[in-house]
Amino acid sequence: MQYIAPLAKLIEQFRALPGIGSKTAARLAYYVLEMDKARAEGLAQAIIEAKEKISYCNVCFNLTDCNPCKICQAEVRDSSVLCVMEEPRDVAAMERTREYHGRYHVLHGQLSPLEGIGPNDIRIKELLTRIQSGTITEVIMATNPDVEGEATAMYISRLLKPLGVKVTRIAHGLPIGGDLEYADAVTLSKAMENRREM
Ligand SMILES: [Zn+2]
Repeated sequence: MQYIAPLAKLIEQFRALPGIGSKTAARLAYYVLEMDKARAEGLAQAIIEAKEKISYCNVCFNLTDCNPCKICQAEVRDSSVLCVMEEPRDVAAMERTREYHGRYHVLHGQLSPLEGIGPNDIRIKELLTRIQSGTITEVIMATNPDVEGEATAMYISRLLKPLGVKVTRIAHGLPIGGDLEYADAVTLSKAMENRREM
């Protein structure tokens, strides 16, 4: 089916999003066309603003609109415990549990030799620098419970142990091969509670 050019362009943009097939992309594009102008501009503006205002925290590399981020700045949080996670959305999942009160470090990925992702491609160097600079006594490896996530946790724990810091791994209450992001709050806080030393 031939769409008029601006519509085809909009459909193509939606189709490039994860989990959106051709049919859904077309449905969304038609939906946007039905919107009044103010709403459509609001949607476009929200995308532009999110891209302009949100960056990575210089300390923990989580998403933030201030630097350092609110979690890094919060004095009530425990500076001696660091939770290492793969993605900002994992931090969001952990925060939803309301059970963890330490700090975070976001790796932005996991080691994956098959995909050519090595130690220099994720934020491991920055993690080591943080540990060396002092106040942290425990690092909780909360990478995903899949093969790459486990390998990433192992690799990092071997680097951290000589620095005299306690390294723990969240428990296997989580579905293997699952994504931390989708774990419910109870499962995730249990996994934290039952963490074991690596
Ligand atoms: Zn931060």
